[in-house]
Amino acid sequence: MPELKYNSAAEIDDAYETLQATFRAGTTRPLSWRKHQLNQVVLLLRENLDAIVQSFAGDLGKPRVEVITGEVGPIVRRTIQSVALLDEWASDERVAAPDWQQSWSPTVLKRPKGVVLVISPWNFPVFLTFQPLIGAIAAGCPAVLKLSEIGPGVSTLLADLLPKYLDRSAYRVINGGVPEVTHLLRLKWDHITYTGNGTVGRIVAKAAAEHLTPITLELGGKSPVLIDPNTTNLKIVAKRVLWGKSRNAGQICVAPDYVLIPRAAQDAFVEAIKEAAAELRLDDALASTDSYGSIVSEGHYRRLRNLMTTSSGTIVVGGNTNEERRRIAPTVYRDVKEGDSLLEGEIFGPLLPIVPVDDVRQAIEYIDAHPRPLVLYAFTEDPEVKQALRDETRSGGLHFNDVLSQAGVDQLPFAGVGESGYGNLTLKYTYDEFTYLRGSVDIPLTLEPNLSTRYPPYTPAVIEA
Ligand code: NAD
Repeated sequence: MPELKYNSAAEIDDAYETLQATFRAGTTRPLSWRKHQLNQVVLLLRENLDAIVQSFAGDLGKPRVEVITGEVGPIVRRTIQSVALLDEWASDERVAAPDWQQSWSPTVLKRPKGVVLVISPWNFPVFLTFQPLIGAIAAGCPAVLKLSEIGPGVSTLLADLLPKYLDRSAYRVINGGVPEVTHLLRLKWDHITYTGNGTVGRIVAKAAAEHLTPITLELGGKSPVLIDPNTTNLKIVAKRVLWGKSRNAGQICVAPDYVLIPRAAQDAFVEAIKEAAAELRLDDALASTDSYGSIVSEGHYRRLRNLMTTSSGTIVVGGNTNEERRRIAPTVYRDVKEGDSLLEGEIFGPLLPIVPVDDVRQAIEYIDAHPRPLVLYAFTEDPEVKQALRDETRSGGLHFNDVLSQAGVDQLPFAGVGESGYGNLTLKYTYDEFTYLRGSVDIPLTLEPNLSTRYPPYTPAVIEA
């Protein structure tokens, strides 16, 4: 694994000053310049695909298929769409005002907020760095990208590649740990996006508040899976849920965190889970390099091992681990009860607790009584249950009858609510995060007679009018 080179405080200050000067000079203003930078992003990702796949080997051991479908592919697609849609997004909008104000040319101008900071995590280091970056480029904002120190392979490669493709006076990578982020957060940014855990999210929000800097927080949480056994095929459900929990070794912000199922159906679901595990070859998860990955660091491996030893649930699938390779086989627990260690914080690993409940109604109440998740998954064909979930629960996304797929729909907003964050990142939603709306009027002096009544002295005739 390469040793990550941390940037010095002087390099951070230099990046900041350079980007400020670039913004003031208007370099990022022309749409043609922004489109060129976006096209360079596409080139960077396409020309270096093999190196990118390779850079994941030591960090997450992410299979090539998952790097293409979950990291590089969606960004290439969204960047190309951003180029195609930028003229439309950026065009000024004339608003429909009352007749007497139409001659004022009331218009909404879309303008870049300024120089922005993007802080990204290790679990999807390409996708979660480039998604805000392409929005910042499209909006005309220079950006500093603070990559995660926990995935040194990818962070080293991106620090090397970015200056070869993008204008270095507008886009800089900063690598480092807490001291470097702390230094960055002392500076005054025009917008900050932070993707990561809620504890650090609160640190970022407090630092931003010192400068009244607007922020986007993409956080995590426990995304529940509600299963309504009366209206769904448990075999298919088990396969979909287990797949979603195994991808990236469960280290996905929208991974299914735990299952809520009526008690009477738990045995049947466990049988379906066992069949799905065989079909997905989960017995190969500790050795496979093309289908399953690793836990990112020793610290996270130990955290998950600790959860495995403290849970009082019964293992029905998996349970095997390999410390040297930081591998944990997807592991499913049944009969997990409130108070179990697996139900405390976000699991962020391949462990899946099944929590039996009395019925679907109790499951809905359980979800509503807990912090707002990033996504709520429900397997049901019952229209009343669907409507109850739409009306009675709150979550960033609401996904029926599958897991993870919502994140791949380019046109949907991607965001949390409450404890899972705020602000949206996908295509125009991202562009909007980095853009401010500037209301503008232009009132010709020739209209002076129309304004005569506004000036003092206010005569009784005017007041009555
Ligand atoms: P991480 O540890 O890589 O941290 C993210 C960034 O925060 C890094 O750049 C890191 O340097 C910085 N950081 C860490 N500690 C800090 C501190 N004390 N002060 C200031 N900055 C600090 O990533 P992570 O937080 O482990 O990422 C996993 C979390 O992110 C999970 O909770 C997951 O659900 C969430 N997540 C959310 C989304 C989303 O889109 N909503 C996407 C991916 C991950």
